[in-house]
Amino acid sequence: MQFAKPLLAAFALGSMVALPAHAEMDVARLKAAIETSFEADYPKLDALYKDLHAHPELAFEEVKTAARLAAEMRALGFEVTEKVGKTGLVAIYKNGDGPTIMVRTELDALPMEEKTGLPYASQVKVNWNGRETFVAHSCGHDIHMANWVGTAKTLVGLKDQWRGTLMFIAQPAEEIVQGARAMLADGLFTRFKKPDFAFALHAGGVPYGYVSYRVGVGSSNVDGLYVKFIGRGGHGAVPQRTIDPVMMAARFIVDVQTVISREKDPTEFGIVTVGAVHSGTVGNIIPDDAVLLGTIRSFKPEVRAKMLAGIERTAKAVAAMSDAPAPDIRIGEGTKAVINDPAVVATAEKALKAAFGDKLRLTPANTTSEDFSEFAAAGVPSMMFGIGIYEPEKWTAANRNGTPLAGNHSPQFAPVPKPTILTGVTAMTLAVLSAFDQRAAPPVIASEAKARSRP
Ligand SMILES: [Zn+2]
Ligand SMILES: [Zn+2]
Repeated sequence: MQFAKPLLAAFALGSMVALPAHAEMDVARLKAAIETSFEADYPKLDALYKDLHAHPELAFEEVKTAARLAAEMRALGFEVTEKVGKTGLVAIYKNGDGPTIMVRTELDALPMEEKTGLPYASQVKVNWNGRETFVAHSCGHDIHMANWVGTAKTLVGLKDQWRGTLMFIAQPAEEIVQGARAMLADGLFTRFKKPDFAFALHAGGVPYGYVSYRVGVGSSNVDGLYVKFIGRGGHGAVPQRTIDPVMMAARFIVDVQTVISREKDPTEFGIVTVGAVHSGTVGNIIPDDAVLLGTIRSFKPEVRAKMLAGIERTAKAVAAMSDAPAPDIRIGEGTKAVINDPAVVATAEKALKAAFGDKLRLTPANTTSEDFSEFAAAGVPSMMFGIGIYEPEKWTAANRNGTPLAGNHSPQFAPVPKPTILTGVTAMTLAVLSAFDQRAAPPVIASEAKARSRP
């Protein structure tokens, strides 16, 4: 309950901007109301952000993080279910008849050392997969969590502006792209009502105050690659009695890039990266085998299929050249590309354009991957957008000097909390309100309305 009083006080302005049903959103007045509320609430959001930042937890181990968010949401009047998909949360707030709108945050951090030198930098070290590792929120999921709580508070404060149900979910294990599927497998859309629309955001190493978005494909398909070349070990000075797996690995690493440069249509996106090579112990022993680990990225299913076939054929051919047994090839599907629904984007775009003007930017799709895609793949029209984190002047100066500021997954990733979270709360609140408002209003384009197949 600690947030209730300042929130209501802050929304003295918000409660005066009641919209008649089916009206166009008065974005300017709503934005002013959001900013007033944010200013009053920010000290608590700042404390929440810095606490989450200093105490990061790895995929499927986000127990304290989830408990902290559950307490915040219960204090706002949400009905919270814990341990959905191992460590995930579902927080529901009902406010009359209307659509159900999902807003997702991630909970997890990365197995890496933070080197920002910030006073609230993470010092956390844990044992993970048999080794000791530092843990850090170097992807900004702590920004997303503060934004998620801030947006929930704002929407509850503005509850005379919308009718329907808020479904705020906190998802585990995004960094290993398994958490969304874990929540779905644990009944996210069966134990709870399947939402009509879903939104998420991601912070990135660009200036704050800006919002970026994309219609259609927003991020890449990802597949994990494992290849084990099976040779026959022996003395490094007697190679004729061996089958050299290091030679096979080396050939494969080079030749597999011709799948990208010669087989794939050069106008289509596709990447194969071999990121880990494990073989051998010392210089004069030819080892028995070599294991390669890699990642495969694409936007389109047909491009993906072509690349997977080429990668597999190259690995088999390399082994055949050495007269070695067939290699052990495993391609594990990671997650699909994020697809932003054109109708959801068109609705949110109007409100975001009115609020952010030319600071709302259409951007190219990301080559990174994101398992928010699983919710759209399960049939929920969705939108994911981006927000910046750095002081605009510093960002421009750093680029001019040829020393760009750190991006996601860098040990130096350091968002400026207040303006970053303000941008996120403003954009997410308006996006959600636009979906409620659009639902009540007649659709602008008939074909889009059909595509959305609203009841
Ligand atoms: Zn990440
Ligand atoms: Zn991330």
